[in-house]
Amino acid sequence: MSAASCTTNRYDVVFIGSGINSLAGAALLARAGRRVLVLEREDRLGGAIWTAEITEPGFVHEVMASWHPLFVGSAAYAELADDLHALGLEYLNTELPTGYLAPDGSAAFLTTAHERNVEELERLSPGDGDAWSRCVQEFMPNADLSFGVLTTELWSRAGARLATRAYRRLGRRGLVEFGGSVLASARDWLTETFTSPQTHGLLAPWVLHTGLGPDSAVSGFMTQVIAVAIELGGMPVPKGGGVKLVEALAGIVRTAGGTLETGQDVERVLVEGGKATGVRIAGGATVAADRVVANVTPTQLYGRLLADATDLPESAREAGRRFRYGRAEMQVHFALDELPRWDGDERLGRTAILHLTPGLDGVSRAVNEAERGLLPAEATIVLGQPLAVDPSRAPEGKSILWIQLQELPRQPRGDAADEIDTGDGTWTDELKERYADRVQARIARHVTNLESALLKRVVFSPADIEQANVNLVGGDIYSGSCALDQNLLWRPRPTLPGHRTAVQGLWHIGASTHPGPGLGAGSGTIVANELLRENRARRALQGLGRRLGKTTEAL
Ligand SMILES: Cc1cc2nc3c(=O)[nH]c(=O)nc-3n(C[C@H](O)[C@H](O)[C@H](O)COP(=O)(O)OP(=O)(O)OC[C@H]3O[C@@H](n4cnc5c(N)ncnc54)[C@H](O)[C@@H]3O)c2cc1C
Repeated sequence: MSAASCTTNRYDVVFIGSGINSLAGAALLARAGRRVLVLEREDRLGGAIWTAEITEPGFVHEVMASWHPLFVGSAAYAELADDLHALGLEYLNTELPTGYLAPDGSAAFLTTAHERNVEELERLSPGDGDAWSRCVQEFMPNADLSFGVLTTELWSRAGARLATRAYRRLGRRGLVEFGGSVLASARDWLTETFTSPQTHGLLAPWVLHTGLGPDSAVSGFMTQVIAVAIELGGMPVPKGGGVKLVEALAGIVRTAGGTLETGQDVERVLVEGGKATGVRIAGGATVAADRVVANVTPTQLYGRLLADATDLPESAREAGRRFRYGRAEMQVHFALDELPRWDGDERLGRTAILHLTPGLDGVSRAVNEAERGLLPAEATIVLGQPLAVDPSRAPEGKSILWIQLQELPRQPRGDAADEIDTGDGTWTDELKERYADRVQARIARHVTNLESALLKRVVFSPADIEQANVNLVGGDIYSGSCALDQNLLWRPRPTLPGHRTAVQGLWHIGASTHPGPGLGAGSGTIVANELLRENRARRALQGLGRRLGKTTEAL
């Protein structure tokens, strides 16, 4: 423990963990004059943002999170953009954010130009282009409500204000209709709205990026929000990698006098008389703080950090224990000696994120197999091409691919294709490499030089992912199932909604809390704003007290 954070120092706010929510929250608070400390157990800041040359020198990989539309669209970025840019952060973007590649080589694309999207979908099936136009037109007037649900503390006055605004605008019937449409599955929304299986294939895989499957409640709403957001915002990435965002956020904290420390595993939140008073770090050092903000899973919060808090309601502990984790994930990184040579549509090589899948039913089948404990026979391959947005990520003429496989069991019980022996369900190196071979062979059918140009492949299994970040339990990259009973109003659990906890002064943020996973920094921003408001309210009360005191003296 360094001198900076030992007991002699008292902080206004201590953050446990340095994920995007902590960094954004700490930056907002530090800029407003709060003394903040961020404690991170790993040897690098940023949590799931991790940029490193993991294959060959000069090949800059996003080991985990890669795409920043959520951050660029966030309230935190709106607030901090000038400071972040002054500290060197630069976003690059593309007009060709996403595409769909079917096994037969046919493809479809979504761009950032509305008219081109209408033409593309109309090409796939007459009527689908008009349907897309109607979707965007109907979505936009209530976009503030849709995005508001994802950026507001729902269990608060702000949440009540959002509901009132929705009621005033839509009326009782309209509100019921809006609420009902939010609940629809992606399958129902897609098949009711579009006729082409290609359009379904273009949009359906995006539900995976919300932790859901195409047959889950709310997945239709999530798909729409993402599809519209992609058309409006593209697929931005920081020039040089996500580390640039991490460095810039940390720079704001340091410039404002805050402290960030790595290699500090917080093992307890200190609680006295029902109030958080600080934290204890592994090794025994303690830090005193007025407020503690924990960016951890409920399992860790209630099972470890609050293990000694004797007056914690048993219902809170029980809810922490019952928090469910979602499907596991695998990352595969390729370094290539050449640019990938795509067979087929020339746009394939220029697209930021492609989904290789048989389509809506293909995604549904793979999700279902994973949820039944099987390695999917034909997984949805999320194929990211960082160079399509930021050519600085690899030496001239060479390339990298970022592959995500979001339909995996945390502990496989078998293989749906009956080819790979999953042993006792442990994610061994052998198991992850055999599964990556299957995926590589499918990509090689479309990228003709994949195997001849391959310099190195690095695979992160679900076990490796958890090893790298304790919040990604079992390789669940979204830190908890996003099923409806653990989402929106009910995240992390129906008995623990929102970000306040049963311990006064202890706040819970991170992907396990509303508005869930992603780089939007939503929970960190919500809590930073709550803490600033709390402080303003306290100061106003103190001022009132002083004024009343003077008045009484005068009497
Ligand atoms: C492989 C992968 C790919 C993804 N791709 C994208 C993407 O492209 N775009 C996107 O928007 N989202 C993506 N996501 C989701 C997104 O990255 C995460 O939801 C988000 O980064 C989570 O941020 P967080 O603030 O919850 O904290 P996390 O990033 O989970 O970080 C939490 C940090 O807290 C630390 N910590 C935990 N406990 C303690 C403790 N007791 N003491 C000290 N430190 C502790 C951990 O070590 C970790 O560093 C991806 C996630 C993963 C894993």
